[in-house]
Amino acid sequence: MYIVQIASECAPVIKAGGLGDVVYGLSRELENRGHCVEIILPKYDCMRYDHIWGLHDAYRDLVVPWFGTDIRCDVFCGWVHGRLCFFIEPKSWEMFFNRGCYYGCDDDPMRFAFFSKAAMEFLLRSNKRPDVIHCHDWQTGLIPAMLFEIYKYNGMEFQRTLYTIHNFKHQGFGGTEILQATGLNRPEYYFQYDRLRDNFNPFSINFMKGGITYANHVNTVSPHHAIEAQYGNEGFGLGHTLHTNQHKYSGILNGIDYEVWNPECDRYIPHHYGLTTFEDKALNKKELRDRLLLRQSDRPLVAFIGRLDDQKGVHLVHHAIYHALARGAQFVLLGSATERGINDWFWHEKIFLNDNPDVHLELSFNEELAHLIYAGADMIVVPSNFEPCGLTQMIGLKYGTVPIVRGVGGLVNTVFDWDYDTLHEPEERNGFVFFQSDNVALESAMNRAFDVWDHAPDTFKQLAQQGMQYDFSWNHPGQAYIDLYEYIRHK
Ligand code: ADP
Repeated sequence: MYIVQIASECAPVIKAGGLGDVVYGLSRELENRGHCVEIILPKYDCMRYDHIWGLHDAYRDLVVPWFGTDIRCDVFCGWVHGRLCFFIEPKSWEMFFNRGCYYGCDDDPMRFAFFSKAAMEFLLRSNKRPDVIHCHDWQTGLIPAMLFEIYKYNGMEFQRTLYTIHNFKHQGFGGTEILQATGLNRPEYYFQYDRLRDNFNPFSINFMKGGITYANHVNTVSPHHAIEAQYGNEGFGLGHTLHTNQHKYSGILNGIDYEVWNPECDRYIPHHYGLTTFEDKALNKKELRDRLLLRQSDRPLVAFIGRLDDQKGVHLVHHAIYHALARGAQFVLLGSATERGINDWFWHEKIFLNDNPDVHLELSFNEELAHLIYAGADMIVVPSNFEPCGLTQMIGLKYGTVPIVRGVGGLVNTVFDWDYDTLHEPEERNGFVFFQSDNVALESAMNRAFDVWDHAPDTFKQLAQQGMQYDFSWNHPGQAYIDLYEYIRHK
């Protein structure tokens, strides 16, 4: 099959979170299985150019219709660790992707509406006719709509779309100007409830709703989150839309790329280790402590890695730091905040805790350090308010770093409580789970982990090793996506 992924991220060249990992990891798995994959991305000024090989121009002066006139783009092409990627660079005064950031601009809906339009024009003009166009998250939600309403009539009638939702919280909103810009026009048609109109704001179109409505199939990134989003609050207002489209809606658990995330061959960690050489994990812990100026001790090291965002349960993350310290453990946090208030709060904490030899807060995005933390920590906390899939607990498991998680979304599908899980045998359990989103619940799960560490170190090691034996690679999800592509191709 010939598959084109259209997304706003692809790790490691463009990565703000799990979306980047998924686009890269899934593409690699599909290619390993003999399929042809191409990835279309914006050409941001701030992406990691050092991860692109052989960047050259692939299409000069692509004319993209925009607001009744046009914007010209250059499309570049290069390899990101073996994946063929196309980068779209618009030549216009708006400088859509030359803002020094991936997201967070006031005109994000317009920026990514443009990207979606340009990606479709690129496919059309360069005569690319993939079997499946796989779109990701709100940034590309208009693509299935544009394919169905415009490009189908311009020679793309056989292309099928899969729309994957990685995060329902960010849906992409705009007014009639988005319709005018993209050439969809006809507000009276698109502002219908069963098309693009937002379920709650009648004056707004909703990009993600467009993706759900128009795609041939829609999925989110874990089976449990698929149910939560349809029936609970986790759909952020799109539950009814999912319900009306449930015949083409499912959940597929993400995988992680074991070539990138594997303590046996991780290029960013100083000491490789595996199940049979588990003792060598301690060497990484020593290295991590030295690097972050933490004191060497026999107490456990707890970590948090992730965006500092309301989704990730920042209040509980904050509490976890102090609770770990109260129990004599150490804590390492690696996170970056986009919200000013959260950023200021954690900077305040960082300064306050600066001289404490048992804690380090690293408030930045640092891929290399993340690898060392996964390898060096004993436990990783993931106290999310909601978590569509969550990669950090799966990476933690692979590195023998025991996850302590809140039982939501994909965390339910991947972490099985040591004491209380009823669906898994003791030898299949791999972490600690709590459910309420409050300090007491978090503390009780952390205490259970600390107690095993303190009173039954062999058991703790066994638990870590049980986690390492899980296969959360792209093997199973890769097959599930291929089955889905085949299904929508022949439907
Ligand atoms: P998200 O909701 O951000 O997509 P996931 O758990 O799905 O969360 O994926 C997070 C990914 O981003 C993981 O690969 C994690 O290691 C990485 N990550 C998150 N924050 C940082 C950071 N500050 N520095 C380095 N890597 C990070």
